[in-house]
Amino acid sequence: MRLDIITIFPEMFIGPFSYSIVKRAIDKGLVEIHLHNLRDYATTKHKNVDDYPFGGAAGMVLMIEPIDRCITHLKGQREYHEVIYLTPDGILLNQPLANHISTKQNLILLCGHYKGIDERVRQHLITLEVSIGDYVLSGGELAAAVLSDSLIRLIPGVLGDETSALSDSFQDNLLSPPVYTRPAVYKDWAVPDVLLSGHERKIHEWQHEQAIIRTQSRRPNLLEF
Ligand code: SAM
Repeated sequence: MRLDIITIFPEMFIGPFSYSIVKRAIDKGLVEIHLHNLRDYATTKHKNVDDYPFGGAAGMVLMIEPIDRCITHLKGQREYHEVIYLTPDGILLNQPLANHISTKQNLILLCGHYKGIDERVRQHLITLEVSIGDYVLSGGELAAAVLSDSLIRLIPGVLGDETSALSDSFQDNLLSPPVYTRPAVYKDWAVPDVLLSGHERKIHEWQHEQAIIRTQSRRPNLLEF
């Protein structure tokens, strides 16, 4: 997978992409992430990328020209399967959507800022709009990092068997069952006996039952299909 991320704050991605599974995926060559500073595509002397909104309102708007230049430059080098804009009014990100997007090879992620981006970008250049939740962030960078992480962990070879994404919450419309590790008893809080029994079938049955109980109590909507 190749991710090209367009942003006015490329430095914001250093943390999210420098640790754990995402870093390992980059190191193994399973994902390539390229950060593009929108200011490099500005045409003005002062590298402006935002301007006042027509009609007058509070806040600035990212201009169409630098975004179009950047996307056109990238598209001139390879084919992209989606050009994604992170936006609070996009399709809500969930596991099925992450699964779907993770099958695509080359993606552009566009991070907005201020009041957002010129609507004509959305009308003419964007193929998919994704929200990471019903709340408003200051910029699309954190949202792009969340989306990237959710995609990268699904790329074959990124997770080992022991951390397989298939056993995570939402993959089979169930939440994950509870997990425990040593010590088996802490203070007087004990791990369920079945997990120490060594009886594989009973352990699986218990885990499945717990997943259903947890889903019924926390996310009953997942069971309605
Ligand atoms: N005026 C916009 C609105 O009310 O919908 C909000 C703009 S927000 C302050 C600036 C940028 O942050 C957006 O252009 C978008 O890229 C990003 N953003 C904010 N909340 C987001 C969310 N929940 N999901 C994805 N991106 C988000």
